[in-house]
Amino acid sequence: MISNTLLICKASHRLPSIVIIGLLFLVTAFNGAVADTYKKPIRVLIVGGGSSHDFDRWYKKVDTQTLEKRKFSEVRYTDNTDSIAHYLQDTDVLYLTNNQPIPNKEARKAIFEFARQGKGIVLGHAALWYNWQDWPEYNQKLVSGGSRGHDPYGKFQVNIVDSKHPLTRKIKSFSLEDELYYFKSDASGPGIKVLAEAVNPEKGERFPSVFIINHPEARIAAIALGHDGAAHELKAYQRLLRNAVSWAAASQ
Ligand SMILES: [Zn+2]
Repeated sequence: MISNTLLICKASHRLPSIVIIGLLFLVTAFNGAVADTYKKPIRVLIVGGGSSHDFDRWYKKVDTQTLEKRKFSEVRYTDNTDSIAHYLQDTDVLYLTNNQPIPNKEARKAIFEFARQGKGIVLGHAALWYNWQDWPEYNQKLVSGGSRGHDPYGKFQVNIVDSKHPLTRKIKSFSLEDELYYFKSDASGPGIKVLAEAVNPEKGERFPSVFIINHPEARIAAIALGHDGAAHELKAYQRLLRNAVSWAAASQ
């Protein structure tokens, strides 16, 4: 900006003032547009609430801090599922973490419409469960599967199996204490691409832990980790979450 302004000042004795004003306006507008592209925070809506988890502590507080660091995102959190349709109007990435029901038909419709528009969705931990018998489309079409069980809370390894994908790039395999979800892909859904696997320490069984869903329109990322602070306060988890939101938002 300074060098551009100096350049214009140096040339000013040869140019009419109207041209100089015009040039200054163009330079300012161009710089503003570039700044917006890089600095505009991603608008994230976190939906939490339900059983077995401290949603307020780990999602509303800690994940929000993780996502808002260095103005990467602007987060709104709700556990009122009736408000989803309202908030989605100005949301870039919907981050579903809840295992409470979403009974509101407008909210269900708004989530599917959001996906149809090619927006970004991140599914965290409890949102990858088979939570709702009266809403099979959620698991089949958005999640392409789900979990019906998990190992007892304990330590296990998460192996990065695709280190080239933007979600997992520069993240090394790690171990943590969490619930190892038995996520199974549904063959009747759009399918998934596994980026990291959780490995059961006794039997060596492997389950998708970080993956993307091959949805025809939306960019949907899933992180099966996240039962409590052992995940949410872990650097690797925090990087995965920010990467997932960043990747999902690229559809904007
Ligand atoms: Zn859990």
